[in-house]
Amino acid sequence: MKAALLYGVGDLRVEEIDPPVLSHPDEVLVRIHACGICPSDLRAYTGVSTPHRGWPYTPGHEWAGEVVSVGAEVEGFAPGDRVVPNPMLVCGTCYNCIRGLYSFCENLQRGRIRGGFAQFGTAPAASLHKVPPAVSYRQASFGEPLACCVAGSKQSRIGFGADVVILGAGQIGLMHLQLARLSGARVIVSDVIPERLQKAEALGAHAVIDAGLRDPVQVVQELTAGRGADVVIVAVGVPKAEQQALDMAGVGATINFFAGTYPPTSIPLDPNRIHYRQISLTGSHDYGPIDFRDALRFIELRAVDVDALVSHDLPLERTKEGFDIVAERKGLKVSIHM
Ligand SMILES: [Zn+2]
Ligand SMILES: [Zn+2]
Repeated sequence: MKAALLYGVGDLRVEEIDPPVLSHPDEVLVRIHACGICPSDLRAYTGVSTPHRGWPYTPGHEWAGEVVSVGAEVEGFAPGDRVVPNPMLVCGTCYNCIRGLYSFCENLQRGRIRGGFAQFGTAPAASLHKVPPAVSYRQASFGEPLACCVAGSKQSRIGFGADVVILGAGQIGLMHLQLARLSGARVIVSDVIPERLQKAEALGAHAVIDAGLRDPVQVVQELTAGRGADVVIVAVGVPKAEQQALDMAGVGATINFFAGTYPPTSIPLDPNRIHYRQISLTGSHDYGPIDFRDALRFIELRAVDVDALVSHDLPLERTKEGFDIVAERKGLKVSIHM
């Protein structure tokens, strides 16, 4: 089969390799149709982190496809079924799972979902969800990133009628925008790329801020009669945006540092802002099983438009080009098709 292999920083090649085989009776073999490029796939490619599995390897965890064969112990799935794996396969019984902190499952089986930018992949049946007939493989491949946003949106405690600011209008910020709208918020989106702000407006942003032209803190103060935002979600890993979030949060607000910052950094923080304004500062990454299920539902119900987030559809042979597009922020979601 053909697969993309990452050999080192900037060195991604599509090669002919042996297809994976079922190594456990609870697994299924899947013909992969679509796989999204995630910013986290890029960290080894751009050199900001080193892969824990060593070089070379096939990146890609946002995939969907069709079952080819099933292991002896698999029930409920058969060849021809359209499926999407939930890569966060948690145990449900460890200390962190039983207190609902699934992102920190001590027995996470993420490594068992293999595939990505390849023609075939394997996954434990327990990780699989059936893709509804009206949902395309490309749409289903948004299950994982949208689940992260669903969990982050819940963590942000958006009240009905709240003023929500999303800092960063990449694919993640644009999913947060749509989820905040579902929660009944007025949504203000800030970014420095005009095309992304246009997309935010098309997806229902009530106001947009070109942070390259105007100070987002000042604009949010104007839009909220000086009160500041009720919720700020930082959907870009930029320290300046995190600083803006602290400065624009109103009394009783929740700030969610949703994006990781690479390389690690620190920002100044006036503790009085948190204390006297009773601000809740939180973070969010990954998600639990219910968030993945919710994400697929929002896609099926067309409550979240994921197709609008795809800027490029590329064949597997052009995966490297897709990585470069994401690295240089020249588009939004890049979807690879096998
Ligand atoms: Zn992802
Ligand atoms: Zn667990």
